Amino acid sequence: MTNTWDLLGEAASTAIRYRETLPDRPVAESGDAAAIQAAFGGALPDAPCPPRQVLDELRRAAEGGLVATAGPRFFGFVTGGSLPSATAADILAAGWDQCAGLTVASPAAAAAEQCAGEWLKDLLGLPATASTGFVIGGQSANTVGLAAARHHLCAEAGWDVERDGLAGAPPVRIVASVERHATIDRSLRLLGFGTAAVEEVPAGPNGALDVAALAGVLARGGPAIVCLQAGNVNTGACDDLRAGCSLVRDHGGWSHVDGAFGLWAAASPRTASLVDGIELADSWATDGHKWLNVPYDSGFAFCARPEVHSAAVSYTAPYLVAEGATMGPADFTLESSRRARGFAVWAALRELGRDGVAALVDRCCALARRFAAALAAGGAEIANDVVLNQVLVRFGDDARTDRIADGVRREGTCWLSGTTWRGRRYLRVSVSNFSTTSDDIDRSAEAVLRVAASV
Ligand SMILES: *Cc1c(COP(=O)(O)O)cnc(C)c1O
Repeated sequence: MTNTWDLLGEAASTAIRYRETLPDRPVAESGDAAAIQAAFGGALPDAPCPPRQVLDELRRAAEGGLVATAGPRFFGFVTGGSLPSATAADILAAGWDQCAGLTVASPAAAAAEQCAGEWLKDLLGLPATASTGFVIGGQSANTVGLAAARHHLCAEAGWDVERDGLAGAPPVRIVASVERHATIDRSLRLLGFGTAAVEEVPAGPNGALDVAALAGVLARGGPAIVCLQAGNVNTGACDDLRAGCSLVRDHGGWSHVDGAFGLWAAASPRTASLVDGIELADSWATDGHKWLNVPYDSGFAFCARPEVHSAAVSYTAPYLVAEGATMGPADFTLESSRRARGFAVWAALRELGRDGVAALVDRCCALARRFAAALAAGGAEIANDVVLNQVLVRFGDDARTDRIADGVRREGTCWLSGTTWRGRRYLRVSVSNFSTTSDDIDRSAEAVLRVAASV
């Protein structure tokens, strides 16, 4: 028998020791791809293995391939860290091993989500009557929101899309910015609209949708699902939600806001004006694992019309009927069985409180501006107006910019991803981690400039 104390205690100690190294360890992985694969590889073993040995083998195999994404100098993608309480809560969620899809299977998981959902709507300025689904992330939240939109516009035209599908359905227009996130396209593929259905609206200089152009596109036809954005993944720009949602309302359409990280601007008085009018939308998607700094996987699908939300994605089966089978957590997400991700969300919100979330947002934005200023002083071009936590950096031309991105990752002080925006290559800085300090920013900017000087 394996001693459970030893095994889980050892796993927790390993995680603690790893996290203690985050401020200092090189950010990128230390092994090469082949070595990392080889460490896990080989044929499927025939014989069982004691859990303690499994843990040892896993630790050794993973070490060379771990990226310090949870650390203070990882600025790639839009990657939050994980707050102490949220990490601890996630360890408990693994230990408790609750199935959060059904209220009867875990009243505690359902209650934590219920409470955290109310807190989130309050914090993000969403209507208190909106429904909340605890999904895997922004991708899933966009799919849920657009499924609700599809249900609503089809029902308005007298069509039951859940029963009859889209073949032969009344036409539903899809309108979105040219600068929408790629996950919107994947959601449209999965929902049967296809990506060719998108009627594109141009964007302004910093990447926010051109509202006058939206008015023109809407005037050309019938009711539309309109995808708006809070937080352009390249520039951080937010669409004018008050004007955009009002236009969509007047036109009889459905506005969905992809606010994977940008919706969190609502949580601070200093940035809330960027998402003014947010409450006028019909559905919203955001992430917990980005700016709220809870562990992966965690996102939220909110809908102004709970009955539309559940009509679009609810499900039932004979063996679930005893539960009542309506309006349980699984009626608002795409998953049936899933882990209790609400515990970590509840814990993060409890740790930070309203003031702590606002301070986290403000600090990340201030540090993004500090990073931009330091790089600009060192001769880099900053391509965007740094309105939020994203910075686009360019050194001369595309090839040099890409070489510098590679060099920075190899150098190890910090980690930046590259991106293509409007046909040109950039380094993309996203400051999204609660533990990043101004010293981390200064060290990182120096490292980037040092690498640039050598390329
Ligand atoms: C990250 C992001 C998404 C996708 O979210 P995931 O959590 O990766 O599924 C969607 N939209 C925007 C604007 C994002 O930044």
